[in-house]
Amino acid sequence: MATSPLNLAELEPVALEKTLAELGAPAFHGRQIFAWIHRRGVTRFEAMTDLPAGLRQALAERFAIYTPQLERVDQSTDGTTKFLLRLADDRRIESVYIPDTPAQTFCISTQVGCAMGCAFCLTGKMGLVRNLTAGEIVGQVRVLAHHTGLAGIAFNIVLMGMGEPLHNYDATMQALRILADPRGLGVHPRRVTLSTVGLIPALERLATEPLMPNLAISLHATTDPARTALVPLNRRYDLEALLDACRRFPVRRRARITFEYVLLAGVNDTPDDARRLVRLLDGIRAKVNLLPLNEAPGIPFRRPDDARVNAFAKILADKGVRVLVRRSRGRDIRAACGQLIVEGGRKSAAQQLADRMAPAADAAPR
Ligand code: SAH
Ligand code: SF4
Repeated sequence: MATSPLNLAELEPVALEKTLAELGAPAFHGRQIFAWIHRRGVTRFEAMTDLPAGLRQALAERFAIYTPQLERVDQSTDGTTKFLLRLADDRRIESVYIPDTPAQTFCISTQVGCAMGCAFCLTGKMGLVRNLTAGEIVGQVRVLAHHTGLAGIAFNIVLMGMGEPLHNYDATMQALRILADPRGLGVHPRRVTLSTVGLIPALERLATEPLMPNLAISLHATTDPARTALVPLNRRYDLEALLDACRRFPVRRRARITFEYVLLAGVNDTPDDARRLVRLLDGIRAKVNLLPLNEAPGIPFRRPDDARVNAFAKILADKGVRVLVRRSRGRDIRAACGQLIVEGGRKSAAQQLADRMAPAADAAPR
């Protein structure tokens, strides 16, 4: 069976140099190619005009530069833009651009589907279809940065699209290293937030990384039975173990760990939950993002009303916990894309992804 050519878009500069050396070409051409791909968004070898013509041809014969293909762009009246991207094997993923939150933010996927099976999440219902490669993770950012004209301008990245980034650890970290390189897009890890449901061994590995993103933990409940019902992974890594790992996590000076908490009516939104949450976070430099559930067909929960959400937020705020309520944006495009991706006969997470990509903009009551 023919193997597909190596994708140069997923190599770090050192690996690119090595690949060039194996072709008998000087190493600095590797750095040039890196800049063409990532900084300039040029993915045709023949357009890399500062490379010798013979080398361009040799590269084109041996290698590929894959870029996720833009299949559809939906823009909301509030500026949120949703990108449907097609991968080389025809799988689809979505990435979202959320402007002015106050930064420009790209929400990026790390897997097609997800193995974690959280009870309120449509991506979880898909199961894991496959991991994204580092090239596909970086490719989303490249497509969005060039489409929005933000390449070369500062933007933030949240790994909050489809998938569990710590379940695709190596590709995710390789992508972050490629993104951070100043010869490419130069996105410092300080501008990246990795959201995880709490795979503790991977979290401990993350704590040792030289280039470390900001951390967001999807908590969602304040007792083990309640969390296990919502996040099956809690059976293996319970609340105490997860919060201990957070206490040990080397948080940057002046930074905080974000705790995400999807509010489900009558399930995890009581005043007792709010008070327990305050106690659980004791001793952790934390901030809490409350996400009132984005309802969707197939999700067996309801969104609490605003009064309930605000009461929950107020209990946290009164105890000195930093809290934001993230409210959904882009409702109009969600309405417009009723039947976007179908994977395995099931409507995928595409629609839900946009729903939950609410910016952390509206502050909770003080
Ligand atoms: N797998 C990672 C990152 C992707 S999910 C994680 O779970 O952290 C990003 C965030 O969206 C998580 O906090 C997740 O709980 C939240 N989310 C998932 N489904 C949602 C829904 N229906 N409504 C609101 N938020 C949702
Ligand atoms: Fe996976 Fe995150 Fe969805 Fe849970 S909430 S199923 S971890 S994508």
